[in-house]
Amino acid sequence: MKIYDAVVIGAGPAGITAALYLGRSGCSVLLFEQLTPGGQILLTEALENYPGYPAGIKGYELADLFADHIKDAPNVERPRGEVCSISGSAGDFKIVSAGGEQEHHAKTVIVCTGSKHRHLGLEDEERLIGRGVSYCALCDGNFYRNKTVAVVGGGNSALEETLYLARIVGKVHLIHRRDEFRGVKIYLDRLEAIRDKVEIHRNSVISRLNGKEHLESINIHNLKTDKDTTLPAEALFIYVGFDPETAFLPAEVKRDPNGFLVTDTEMRTNIPGIFAAGDIRSKLCRQVITAAGDGATAAQCAFVFLEQLHA
Ligand code: NAP
Repeated sequence: MKIYDAVVIGAGPAGITAALYLGRSGCSVLLFEQLTPGGQILLTEALENYPGYPAGIKGYELADLFADHIKDAPNVERPRGEVCSISGSAGDFKIVSAGGEQEHHAKTVIVCTGSKHRHLGLEDEERLIGRGVSYCALCDGNFYRNKTVAVVGGGNSALEETLYLARIVGKVHLIHRRDEFRGVKIYLDRLEAIRDKVEIHRNSVISRLNGKEHLESINIHNLKTDKDTTLPAEALFIYVGFDPETAFLPAEVKRDPNGFLVTDTEMRTNIPGIFAAGDIRSKLCRQVITAAGDGATAAQCAFVFLEQLHA
């Protein structure tokens, strides 16, 4: 039975970086990828704050560059599939995948599974997914060319996607539950410049989705004025944050109150031999560049851990 030096779970920027660093250090690595390498960047139109690309780079282009880089990386094997469980301890973790049909063993684990779009939890939200309700403007925005759509959320994702949609659709209603936005000023300034296309509804929550076969309109409730309004909207793009993907991990791995993995600055979780990197970590800044940085740190620390294990 082969015991790999490390299993890296998730092939976004954190996982790809960790695998690349460990492979180049001579460690045997299994890099699990569920779909195409790239993670959330594949759902991002463009990155304007990634150093080296002053004119910006499309999300899929950066993902392609990452995928090309890992393709021939030494000592890295890349099975496809979802990891269902991890058990054992440092030196011999058992990693079960493919619905329980495959078993692998590794001395260390680096968790880079990121997070998935949070749902609003509204009645009819699940029923209308693919019928107007979407979590990806880049994937679905084009279906609503010149139509009226809505975006909910107040973070960078909601602002960025509102700006993207405003270039395609007729009108965007941006709905945020507070007065202040979490997203950065540069995006708010850009939104101000296109107020003919974007109507901002502050202090407002969505109370109802209307439409039988397809979304037709949404009801919003203003928390300050207590007023209800119906807005026409053929699509609703939901950007209210992310939930971590940790279901496959033992309960003993420490999470923060939102379910993200707690690590120290060296990416160590509370379980010896299990590291975490990227958006899955409990942290303030979730960016491609910080994910890649986490991946490099996790790889370096896993390498030192392996040396101590072998000593
Ligand atoms: P986020 O920063 O967590 O923001 C989520 C937004 O959704 C918040 O405004 C929050 O409102 C709102 N919200 C949460 N639950 C809600 C609910 N049940 N109903 C209504 N509104 C709700 O998430 P994100 O915008 O997806 O960003 C995630 C991370 O990626 C952040 O670290 C962000 O900076 C980063 N990111 C960066 C870029 C970039 O730099 N270009 C682009 C995209 C994302 P409150 O504000 O009231 O809490």
